Amino acid sequence: MEKRYLRGGEFLITPMEESEIFLREELPAEVLEIGATANRFMREKVVPNIKEIDGHNFELLVGLLKEAGELGLFSIDVPEEYDGLGMDKKTAMYVAEQMGLEASFLTAYSAHTGIGILPLVYFGTKEQKEKYLTKLAYGEMIGAYCLTEPGAGTDAMNVKTKAVLSDDGKYYVINGTKQFITNAGFADMFTVFAKVDGEHFSAFLVEKDTPGLSLGEEEDKMGIRGSSTRQVIFEDVKVPVENLLGEVGKGHKIAFGILNIGRYKLGTVCMGASKEIIGQATKYTNERHQFGVPVSKFGLIREKIAKMAYKTYAIESVIYRTAGLIDNEIEGLAHEDPKVLDAIGEYAIEASICKVMGSEVLSYVVDEGLQMYGGYGYSEEYPMAKVYRDSKINRIFEGTNEINRVLIPAMLAKKALKKELPLLDFENVIVEEIKSPMKQPRPAKGILGNEVRYIELAKRVAMFLAGVGMKVFGDKIRKEEELLGVLADLSIGIYAAESAILRTRKLAEMNGEDKVKLHAIATQLYVNEFLGTMPVLAKKALNYMLEGQKLKESALGVKTFMPSYDINEVALQQELAKAIIETEKYPF
Ligand SMILES: Cc1cc2nc3c(=O)[nH]c(=O)nc-3n(C[C@H](O)[C@H](O)[C@H](O)COP(=O)(O)OP(=O)(O)OC[C@H]3O[C@@H](n4cnc5c(N)ncnc54)[C@H](O)[C@@H]3O)c2cc1C
Repeated sequence: MEKRYLRGGEFLITPMEESEIFLREELPAEVLEIGATANRFMREKVVPNIKEIDGHNFELLVGLLKEAGELGLFSIDVPEEYDGLGMDKKTAMYVAEQMGLEASFLTAYSAHTGIGILPLVYFGTKEQKEKYLTKLAYGEMIGAYCLTEPGAGTDAMNVKTKAVLSDDGKYYVINGTKQFITNAGFADMFTVFAKVDGEHFSAFLVEKDTPGLSLGEEEDKMGIRGSSTRQVIFEDVKVPVENLLGEVGKGHKIAFGILNIGRYKLGTVCMGASKEIIGQATKYTNERHQFGVPVSKFGLIREKIAKMAYKTYAIESVIYRTAGLIDNEIEGLAHEDPKVLDAIGEYAIEASICKVMGSEVLSYVVDEGLQMYGGYGYSEEYPMAKVYRDSKINRIFEGTNEINRVLIPAMLAKKALKKELPLLDFENVIVEEIKSPMKQPRPAKGILGNEVRYIELAKRVAMFLAGVGMKVFGDKIRKEEELLGVLADLSIGIYAAESAILRTRKLAEMNGEDKVKLHAIATQLYVNEFLGTMPVLAKKALNYMLEGQKLKESALGVKTFMPSYDINEVALQQELAKAIIETEKYPF
């Protein structure tokens, strides 16, 4: 079957097709090998040193970072020309997944390899790259990224840090304070966002020893304690004009372009961590006995294990599907071409979904994982307390989950207005199908064919609500955040459920239906969970937007797209949990 790739956000209106989806199971052997190196490094070098690292032993942390650099783990995204590996995004994601095994080291590693190195890769001049990139790629230098300020967090464009060109035109003088900067304590190079003349948002490369640059105290953090987070203060810091990154006034392209990469990668590391915790927590419940039996024998513990696993299966399907879409879009472009960022930006909706869902699945998994340890989960002597504290940050940085939820429908609306997505045509289909339900989608052929139909119907619910929202609020819908939240949650659920369905169907085609029994169970359980939320979300949105006869008619219309989905949830959960309890690991 010929491959057909969807545009960003198009999954909400176009019927699903297996040929479009990339699966983790399709990663080639050489990528698995690089991943195995990363995994070994984390298990052998980082995990045994968790206590030391979290005790602020930065010397050890930096030493480990350099070791990772020597192994090539910094240079996945660096062009070959600068001694990098210049690999695709699937490889970068697979490596990121392995790095999720410990969060303090991971934070330092991600800040360096992501927001530290990538601005230079995509926007650096040849001279800037020659001077800094190889050193950064091999850990001779460590990078940090200074965007946030005490008064400018989510509203990042509101930075007050100012850069003024000197009279002789040789350097910029930078003044201002940056807040919460990862790696600040040991970074050699800072990518700093400042407004030229207080107006033109721009980026600069600043070396740590530049006079006037100083650091605040280490933040006393709730989690990821082994990472360094400090203020970076600029007092009349003179930065040579050669160190302007990109163009004056175009800093937003750098800041937001890099954020998209950070978002899908963050989702990926959260997924990697979830898989690990499922194994650890299940093992504990096999070992811990109460009432004369392992606690894994109890139904409410089994249920937790199954839920952790099917949510993780869904986010894993989302992550590698997104990697495939992005790699397809950037194919043929030179590794460091800034057009790569535009191409990745095409899938900004999907990147936000990776971020929000990945971080929330991990929060669920660590919360229930800790619960499965009982009182020992609450003790710092056992692993769950740390992962619980560490995981919280993922819902805050790389754009909080609130702002990402707002962005998902906002980006969709923008695409619709630019006519990049034929939302209006789809609205007509929806109106027609409400009048004649016989025209609604039928079950697809093959495994999970019924689920295909339910998700096609769910797309109609989401787009129906979006259409009503646009009619009622027009452009002002941007301010209706509770409504945007509903649309975001529907979009996340649809993308995730569809990704899991497509993955399972494609695997069935590749390996035979008998090989995907557990995959199908995980998919059905996720679909069931998502469909259960849909009537509640639809009611919340409609009751807010409409009243009287219009409300009644719309509620009835939307109901035709929400037939009851009936599976034996408990029996399926028991079957999935059984497989995990037997093997003590994430089963896919
Ligand atoms: C450990 C750590 C490491 C970090 N590392 C870095 C780094 O290396 N470099 C860097 O530049 N920054 C870094 N940050 C900063 C981080 O990106 C910000 O903390 C984050 O963007 C949120 O900004 P804020 O903390 O000012 O919260 P605020 O923006 O003040 O948000 C407060 C609350 O309001 C909500 N909110 C704000 N605006 C909206 C809106 N429009 N709609 C709905 N809700 C909204 C937020 O979601 C949040 O719940 C780091 C932060 C931490 C804690």
